Order: sequence, then structure tokens, then C-alpha cells
Amino acid sequence: MSEALRKVRSLDVLCEETYLKAMAIRPILTVPDPVLKQRSKPVVGPVTDEHRALMDDMLETMYAAPGVGLAAIQIGVPLRIIVMDISPKEEEKQPRFFVNPEIVWASEETKPWEEGCLSVPDIYDEVERPAQVKLKYLNRDGQEIVEDAEGLFAVCIQHEMDHLEGTLFIDHLSRLKRDSAIKKVKKAERERASEGAAL
Ligand SMILES: [Zn+2]
Repeated sequence: MSEALRKVRSLDVLCEETYLKAMAIRPILTVPDPVLKQRSKPVVGPVTDEHRALMDDMLETMYAAPGVGLAAIQIGVPLRIIVMDISPKEEEKQPRFFVNPEIVWASEETKPWEEGCLSVPDIYDEVERPAQVKLKYLNRDGQEIVEDAEGLFAVCIQHEMDHLEGTLFIDHLSRLKRDSAIKKVKKAERERASEGAAL
């Protein structure tokens, strides 16, 4: 390896470390927090370093949870920003960033999928959504991307985009199931809180 290349490589490592240290895990809001029902606002103007710092925090928070997708509103920021990583666990991380995502086409064919949500912990139920969608969004660098999605990607992006409208996956279920899910989450949280107090 040439001296120049060695220098570049070590600089790179240094940068990556500094960048990782700068990220922070933020608390994830859970139901029935009214903030989760808010409609998020579009990012106006270019995607800035401030937005990228938010995306890094979101990603760190999502990986730590662990989850495969997170919308900014889930950490209390009402902006139309989503992070996602649907790569299989054993494979290298493939973070994805979506700013102002829009669904420009959805298939008539629908598919049921068992969904869960970091804001509705430990609750899983089947939701039926379009099987394929075409979406338009800005990536981390602010470039406009048009992309087709199917399978888990289609499910995840539609679930996360629902968050931007203040809709949770349990809002697609019957009232009975929704109320019972919220009750279970509240009960689990009360139990966790009292365990903490006992310690
Ligand atoms: Zn969710």
C-alpha cells in the first residue's frame, strides 16, 4: 500500500468514528401519545446537514430498538423523514433515507402482512396494503429518486408513510383490536415503570 493510500484510509476510519460518536439514541414515543397522531410537515428547501443529523439519530435509534423502519414523528419531530433498513440481519447494513416521500402509483392487488411498530411495542397484526407501489422521494443527499417497491419494502414504506399522516398500523384494525392493543402497551409501560421504581 502506498503511503498516500494508507493516509487516506486512516483518515477515513477517523471520520467514521467521529461520525458514529456524534449520533444519539432518542426516546421512541408510544401509543397513546397524541404527538403520533400529528400530520408531519414536508421538508422545505434543500436537505441540510441538520436534516442529515436527524436522520443519523433516527437510524441509531431504529437499530438500537431494533426495528426496520422509523418515521421522524416517532421521536417527536413532525417532519416528513423516514429511515429504513430491511437488509437481512446477517448481511451488511443498508440504511435508506426518504425525505418527502410520495406514492405515485399503487397496485390494485393487495397483500396481507403481519406488521408491528416501535410505537406499539409487542403488538403484531395483519394489515392489507397494495402489493406494489411506485414512490418518489429525496434521498439523504437531496436527490430526487423514483423507485418501485414490493414485498417487505412496499409494506415498510407504506407503514412509515402512514406515520407521516398520523396513522398507525393499529388504525387499520377493528376498533376492538385497536383499543386492546393500546391497553396492552399502557399496561406493559406501567409495569416497566413500577419495576424501575422498585429498583
Ligand atoms: Zn410504525
